[in-house]
Amino acid sequence: MSDRIDIAIIGSGPAGVSAALNASIRKKTFKIFGSKEISQKLVKAHKVNNYLGFYGKSGLEIRDEFAKHLESMDIDITEDKINNIYSMGDYFALMGTNNNYEAKTVILATGVNFGKPLKGEEEFLGRGVGYCATCDAPLYKDKVVTIISYNKHEESEANFIAQVASKVYYIPMYKEEVAVDSSIEVIKDTPVEIVGEKFVEKLVLKDREIETDGIFILRDSISPGQLVPGLQLDGNHIDVDRKMSTNLKGCFAAGDIVGTPYQYIKAAGEGNIAALSAVSYLDELR
Ligand code: FAD
Repeated sequence: MSDRIDIAIIGSGPAGVSAALNASIRKKTFKIFGSKEISQKLVKAHKVNNYLGFYGKSGLEIRDEFAKHLESMDIDITEDKINNIYSMGDYFALMGTNNNYEAKTVILATGVNFGKPLKGEEEFLGRGVGYCATCDAPLYKDKVVTIISYNKHEESEANFIAQVASKVYYIPMYKEEVAVDSSIEVIKDTPVEIVGEKFVEKLVLKDREIETDGIFILRDSISPGQLVPGLQLDGNHIDVDRKMSTNLKGCFAAGDIVGTPYQYIKAAGEGNIAALSAVSYLDELR
């Protein structure tokens, strides 16, 4: 367990990066979690015409500028996916894939890549369905595990659980070539439904069915209600006020995750507000 930090920023898109800059300027201890690539949504944009000061630049060029900005301020992105955040009263406990962390405040800036849940996903959550294979690996010793993965980075999760499970099926939902351990069976098919009685028993795909004890669904983002129990939502988004405060004391949110319009500059602006609100909250605690 690392030392308790002032602010944990979950997500490294424009909202999270902007929050991190402001946390640094205000001299708070913080970590920003995400990817050194910053955001796939930035990398993939062909041309961006509505971000102040970057007319006609590609998303990739803007991403490089963001990365340079972070480097100039000595801010390093921690490449760990946060799977659960629990409010413990006066601090938050964060469960990452690689490590656990503690923070006095949290800024949720995860974007909205969680998609529609699979049929049966919510029903079997915690009863065979999970979002972190490495965290739950001990539960699946000598059992059959299926991984539905939306990102090539997650191949390491499959390799890890293959060391304890009796069989691993890997279903890639991305186009890149798959390179997993040879013991893992790769299935290129579309998941349709999770089926079982009390616990998960099988996964129905478009063209076949597989019997499985556990199913891990590894998306880029986890839906906010699953990430932070007790968080008040407004549909698929997190309910916030103008200070970007959520219903949980010390928990703020910014960017696409709090609602439309989905725009870089709105995300960056909200990241700024969320960081300043977290700073005020921390200063009041003193
Ligand atoms: P995101 O950019 O989605 O970043 C979220 C980050 O958090 C990701 O890196 C993700 O991996 C990480 N993350 C998520 N969950 C976790 C977790 N649990 N632990 C650790 N890390 C996590 N907007 C414009 O204004 N102009 C445009 O021209 C434009 N063009 C676009 C083109 C495309 C192709 C797309 C897809 C979007 C475009 N957008 C555009 C919209 C814009 O991309 C989004 O509004 C913006 O990226 C939202 O920023 P964000 O910080 O909220 O989230």
